[in-house]
Amino acid sequence: MKLVALAGGTGAAKFLRGLCRVIDPADLTIVGNTGDDVELWGLYISPDLDTVGYTLGGLIDETKGWGVKGDTFQCRTAMAALGNDTYFALGDQDLAVHIYRTEQLRGGKSLSEVTESLRNKWSVACRLLPMSDDRVATRIKTPGGWLAFQEYFVRERCKPEVLDVAYDGAERSHPGPGVIEAILAADAVIICPSNPVSSIGPILAVPGIREALDETRAKVSAISPIVGGGAVSGPAGDMMRAKGFEISPLGVAAAYTGFLDQLVIDYADEISCEALRARGVAPVVTESIMGTREREVALARAAIERLG
Ligand code: GDP
Repeated sequence: MKLVALAGGTGAAKFLRGLCRVIDPADLTIVGNTGDDVELWGLYISPDLDTVGYTLGGLIDETKGWGVKGDTFQCRTAMAALGNDTYFALGDQDLAVHIYRTEQLRGGKSLSEVTESLRNKWSVACRLLPMSDDRVATRIKTPGGWLAFQEYFVRERCKPEVLDVAYDGAERSHPGPGVIEAILAADAVIICPSNPVSSIGPILAVPGIREALDETRAKVSAISPIVGGGAVSGPAGDMMRAKGFEISPLGVAAAYTGFLDQLVIDYADEISCEALRARGVAPVVTESIMGTREREVALARAAIERLG
């Protein structure tokens, strides 16, 4: 079964680690969000692609959920001493990846090409494609004005009220090489348990991707990142409210209206089953919190078992 997974960062990475134990990773193409990408200290950083790559390559710092395990922060300390903004914590080994990526991009390589060489260096067996090689920048409207995504997420720790979310540059962007072809050739598409607005929203905002999801004969299955009335972690609830979506599995289904066939929800949300069915979405009820590796695998199994 050829699978495509649309992915953000932390929630997606855990799920994909489980999925890679259930299927042959060679059959999986991951389309990663680049709306969170940021330039800091002159370096181009792709946090979601790196989180997925580090996790599948076994390099992730599992305590933090981001960065490289055992990393040191000497450069950050030195940058702070030089008076630089250091709100975004970049470890020394992590920095090497950003230096490599930036140098390759400046040398004329595309983000897709650099991601392909990184995933080989990380020994990641599935394909990892950026949603686009063009710059799409997610921005958050707060009562104090618009913030770049990482200013809101990391510097302000998601505290400001979210009034709106925009994907700057999306309308002029093109899908990354291979993205449309992979969706059209897939037997199933999985939307990872990721923030529907800031992780999956930018992917769907790239012209052509939503249309390919409509067109593909593949069944589309999502895993709800909303459990028991709120996000398992992070600001998905606040962002869904700002975009007019109910903070529930029904709101998640509404964010994917038009192409969603199946939604994996937690036992805590069993009450949503009937309303999902009424909207043409088949519910799959399971234990959806990925507290252990076994739960990651079980969730991945639940997400794909009715798609064959
Ligand atoms: P980000 O870029 O780090 O925000 O990464 P994602 O968008 O991929 O993941 C964040 C989302 O994953 C949040 O909306 C969480 O609610 C969701 N999430 C995290 N852990 C779990 C889990 O164990 N189960 C489910 N169902 N969702 C989860």
